[in-house]
Amino acid sequence: MKAFTYNALPGRVVFGVGALEYLQREIERIEAKRALVLSTPQQRGQADDIAARLGERCAGVYAQAVMHVPIETARAARAEAKRLNADCAVAVGGGSTVGLGKAIALESSLPILAIPTTYAGSEMTPIYGLTEGGQKRTGRDPRVLPKTVIYDPSLTLTLPIALSITSAMNAMAHCVEALYAEDANPIVSLMAEEGIRALARSLPKLNANPDDVDVRSDLLYGAWLAGAALGAVGMSIHHKLCHTLGGSFNLPHSEVHTVILPHATAYNRAAAPEAMTRIAAALGASDAATGIWELERSLGAPLTLKEIGMKEEDLDRAARLATERPYFNPRPVEYSAIRALLNNAFHGRKPTEMNQGQ
Ligand code: NAD
Repeated sequence: MKAFTYNALPGRVVFGVGALEYLQREIERIEAKRALVLSTPQQRGQADDIAARLGERCAGVYAQAVMHVPIETARAARAEAKRLNADCAVAVGGGSTVGLGKAIALESSLPILAIPTTYAGSEMTPIYGLTEGGQKRTGRDPRVLPKTVIYDPSLTLTLPIALSITSAMNAMAHCVEALYAEDANPIVSLMAEEGIRALARSLPKLNANPDDVDVRSDLLYGAWLAGAALGAVGMSIHHKLCHTLGGSFNLPHSEVHTVILPHATAYNRAAAPEAMTRIAAALGASDAATGIWELERSLGAPLTLKEIGMKEEDLDRAARLATERPYFNPRPVEYSAIRALLNNAFHGRKPTEMNQGQ
């Protein structure tokens, strides 16, 4: 066995249908008396419900979260937290809302209680992102890791099916890259493999049963494991490409993860054989990359960069941006190979060994 360092992230998770009933108990546990509830404008209704449940312990609702945490939104939310003398941020929503909570915590060390409603996984990580002048910068800081996470699958019933699918593939991407991470360790690898298994078995049931709370529970369970893996070990080429395509070309977050994942997996096929075997086994497929692609195709998920808004003439620049600074990846990151990967993703080609030129 390879030598490893295992770091467990602190944090408390309350999971289950109806877990929201424990909100008061959890707020008291972190000794918060003036919680600021955060959400996107679209989830204002859920935020108001949380505020009502908090009663006297709610200082206000700030429903202005948007994708990628623009610095102006972060500043306005920080000012609102100060104005209301908030002693805690309760983030109800996906990565955008949790990200806004993190932007507040980064400056003020305000504790965050997260109530995730997508599968993006930000609630389990000390990673934050802020966008200033069109550039997104990310960093790690233990202050932004939520103190408590309440996963209540009932809150995910309203997540539209198309977004549920791409968000779950976003979660699967964390698991795939955790399995070949430079700092991988046996515990996180178990979580990642189990995460893929839970997501892969529940996704095909979602189309037929979007309101089945057991299916939603299994998806959220997979998403939790995926977020924990993302928070614990380093990511590689897949996340680098998605960050580049999302940040510099404004492609939608979970969709870009969905399109890139089969191709990033194929890119590392020969360089990470043990991870590939585990991914394929968890998918119930003979090959990791084609297994992911087949799963996505069967779900009607987007398969091409073209359909999610990428322009073909921008592929050269995207490949340059994704290869200009060195970072860990099982297979060396080279411009021409990454350009070929992007071309395959642009057209949504099945990532067989032959199609990938391997
Ligand atoms: P999101 O938070 O932007 O949500 C997408 C849309 O779906 C929003 O309009 C939201 O209000 C709505 N929505 C969410 N849950 C819903 C529900 N249950 N019912 C109805 N509508 C719902 O999307 P996301 O994919 O969760 O997050 C993407 C952002 O999170 C990106 O900016 C990404 O970079 C960031 N992210 C950060 C980390 C990290 O560790 N820091 C991890 C993953 C994602």
